[in-house]
Amino acid sequence: MPHDGHHAHEAGTELSEMDARVRALESLLVEKGYVDPAAIEAIVQTYETKVGPRNGARVVARAWADPAYRARLLADATAAAAELGYSGRQGEHLVAVENGPGVHNLVVCTLCSCYPWSVLGLPPAWYKSAAYRAKAVIDPRGVLADFGVSLPAGVEIRVWDSTAEIRYLVVPERPAGTEGWEEERLAGLVTRDSMIGTGLALPREEAGR
Ligand code: FE
Repeated sequence: MPHDGHHAHEAGTELSEMDARVRALESLLVEKGYVDPAAIEAIVQTYETKVGPRNGARVVARAWADPAYRARLLADATAAAAELGYSGRQGEHLVAVENGPGVHNLVVCTLCSCYPWSVLGLPPAWYKSAAYRAKAVIDPRGVLADFGVSLPAGVEIRVWDSTAEIRYLVVPERPAGTEGWEEERLAGLVTRDSMIGTGLALPREEAGR
């Protein structure tokens, strides 16, 4: 299973030691007949292919389209995501933070790579990098610039530090000109990065991309 604890704080030797330990443990469990390697593979496959940012995109699209759902999402994101069938490992204690005209939210895990798997799948490599984890806190505007996002000077950037206990989902601003759109079409505008805060939702012209 991918590492999601608070152990490997720096990349490099610690991570490869963790890798070796995970492999040794897996071999031992298989050898003793406690686990089926196919079952482990199935779990990894599920998180790599079936559970992905499309789940989160549907949550955001529903929030854009349905004010009552939006209110439930902001009050209790774990329950609101579960309403759409997205729950389980690393999705507990989900908190939704909403962007608005004067506020932009950015999510990081300064210690390792805590991430809301149930709605976003597995974290991208850059999310786990020491560079992102450090710079997001010190220079969030610089991080946004690295991702090609520039916000008006007056916009407040709120940085949220994920932990094993609380994982954040950003609700990006709904793109202009999408009034009355079906949820599925709206979901096509919600990128993974827009739900981490390193991106914005796509403009309406890019629907279906
Ligand atoms: Fe973490």
